[in-house]
Amino acid sequence: MKRVLITGAAGFLGSHLCDKFMDNGYKVVGMDNLITGDLSNIEHLFASEHFEFYNHDVSKFVHVAGDLDYILHFASPASPIDYLKIPIQTLKVGSLGTHNLLGLAKEKEARILVASTSEIYGDPDVHPQKEEYWGNVNSVGPRGVYDEAKRFQEAMTMAYHTFHGLETRIVRIFNTYGPRMRLDDGRALPAFMSQALEGKDLTVFGDGSQTRSFCYVDDLIEGIYRLLLSDYSQPVNIGNPSEITIKEFAEEIIKLTGTDNKVIYKPLPKDDPKQRCPDISRAKEILDWEPKVDRSEGLKRTYEYFKQKLNK
Ligand code: UDP
Repeated sequence: MKRVLITGAAGFLGSHLCDKFMDNGYKVVGMDNLITGDLSNIEHLFASEHFEFYNHDVSKFVHVAGDLDYILHFASPASPIDYLKIPIQTLKVGSLGTHNLLGLAKEKEARILVASTSEIYGDPDVHPQKEEYWGNVNSVGPRGVYDEAKRFQEAMTMAYHTFHGLETRIVRIFNTYGPRMRLDDGRALPAFMSQALEGKDLTVFGDGSQTRSFCYVDDLIEGIYRLLLSDYSQPVNIGNPSEITIKEFAEEIIKLTGTDNKVIYKPLPKDDPKQRCPDISRAKEILDWEPKVDRSEGLKRTYEYFKQKLNK
């Protein structure tokens, strides 16, 4: 059996990756320091002899006994309100954490895939965003701690690839949603769904004309799995190109939840990107991948999860 280390294992994406690799017959070592992760996302795996968990902060030296075939680095706060609350940890996990895991990959002769982000394109002035676009990031703005850590992560990963011949993969993840997002993580979807469920008005920031393109988590996980197993070491966008304004998105959630709550408007956070949509030609060509779950279906599944979570 191949053995894979997944950092951020108790988080939204990390926990889905743990499931994917367990289902495909791997031994999984999960690692998380539980700052933003939640053990309830992976508690169903603890009974398996093929799953191990380490409570560890990867910005400190990382030691794992035994062989590793793959490393997936998904540890990081990932929502704007989280990285405003813990900016230094956000910078450290993307930079020092990445360095530690690249070193571990080299030591174990493992292939490593790092979670990058559409945020490396900043507030993009090219639309939709292709991998060749270099981005428009404000390094000293509130989002800079995340964006620049992820840009450094990409540079460090390419350097290990070029200078040490390490097998590396870089996925640029666009907005993703689905079960196991934290209700209080502050991002648009959990905010709107929890507001709808609690009978509150939905808080749209700015005039709601900014756009995002939301990908259902199962589609994203499949794309990441294919990228890891491919032989492609340049960055690949994974996301759903179906673009929507945030105002329309809030209205879709009101309709889905059948509430009579309204949309109310709050100030737009600084440096909030005005538009975002992935160009996924590269993923289509190299991974033969494209998203399968449309937004109406994905939102229904996510709503069921949030309803159950709130009832608990
Ligand atoms: N947003 C909003 N209301 C909220 C939370 C977010 O209108 O309660 C907006 C936010 O300003 C942004 C978009 O929704 O324009 C997506 O925000 P999110 O935090 O989900 O992701 P990101 O900005 O990182 O894409």
